[in-house]
Amino acid sequence: MPTCLRLCIQMRCRWKRWRTKYETEGISTIPSVCAKRRAKLGRLRTSLATAATCRSEAETGARSGTGCAKERGMTMNKYYEETKVADGVYRINGLEGVYMDLFVGTKAALLFDTGYGFGDLKDFVRQLTKLPLIIVNSHGHMDHTSGNYQFDEDIYIHPKDMDFCRETNSVEGRLRTAREGRDKICYPERVKRNIIPEGFDEDAYIRKGAGKLKALEAGQVFDLGGITLEVVELPGHTSGSIGLFHKEEKAFYVSDALNHFTYLFFPEATNLQTYKQTLYKARTIPFEKLYTGHLPVVGTRQTLEDYIDCVENLDFEQGVPYDTPMFPDSGARMCMRKGYTPEDIFKPGFAAVVINKEHLN
Ligand SMILES: [Zn+2]
Repeated sequence: MPTCLRLCIQMRCRWKRWRTKYETEGISTIPSVCAKRRAKLGRLRTSLATAATCRSEAETGARSGTGCAKERGMTMNKYYEETKVADGVYRINGLEGVYMDLFVGTKAALLFDTGYGFGDLKDFVRQLTKLPLIIVNSHGHMDHTSGNYQFDEDIYIHPKDMDFCRETNSVEGRLRTAREGRDKICYPERVKRNIIPEGFDEDAYIRKGAGKLKALEAGQVFDLGGITLEVVELPGHTSGSIGLFHKEEKAFYVSDALNHFTYLFFPEATNLQTYKQTLYKARTIPFEKLYTGHLPVVGTRQTLEDYIDCVENLDFEQGVPYDTPMFPDSGARMCMRKGYTPEDIFKPGFAAVVINKEHLN
């Protein structure tokens, strides 16, 4: 049972008489109530409203487990959380379901991706570091770039994804993103939740654009002081997808570019051959740890070999049709590594490419 609902029931037993009077007549009609009780009734009102939202989601099968943003009491300023994975390296996450990686050196910090930007990401990052900040987008998709607007700094992105990123962040694009936030499919439970925090201004959000985009250069290296990050071009998922190789840690941050479930059916994706070459190129990077954009699991070199095995033995005809409401008529198929089914998606060794005929060559 959601915490707010439990609280609501407890409060209801205790304050039933007051609540009935409050709901029918309003708090001002209860002159004898003391200030403390007034505050408690006010909180009860909020709790009732939240519980109603969460209940309606539960009734439509839309939520379970960890709860929606309102139930968690998430506000713009209290929306994200971080996990420290190495000295000066934080993985930032929240209900958005996408990882943003913050690297803090001795001279500068670098933020890799900005997520949906529903919460106050800038404030969260600034609590972790006050150093000069460099921002880099892994690719142009909205779930990695929609928070760009919060930052005054230049936003580095591969030139091949620049126009696409602006399109994604048009008013129409951002309106779609905001609406997705109200009905977001959350993994691994695969349930829909409202992940929009309290205090979110949708009207302002949809007009914020893509931020000050600046073209990345091939082979660009960011020296943050004690942390060296090398840009690696990884075309496939999009033409301008990149990864960052953390040389000191031998850790490879690849966002969506190399993934256990790689989308290759969007118009902005390359063909399969290009993606295959990207996988082979990744083999030449001397990484020991692989961090992807949507999973907390830390991959290894074997993880990359699993992805390669999937692509080298891909059989489109054996793939499972992937026509979801979000992507109708895409003609895409989910082509899994041999021996795995769609139910195995979070099992070790699973790898799949979601691709349509247009991208097969
Ligand atoms: Zn993507």
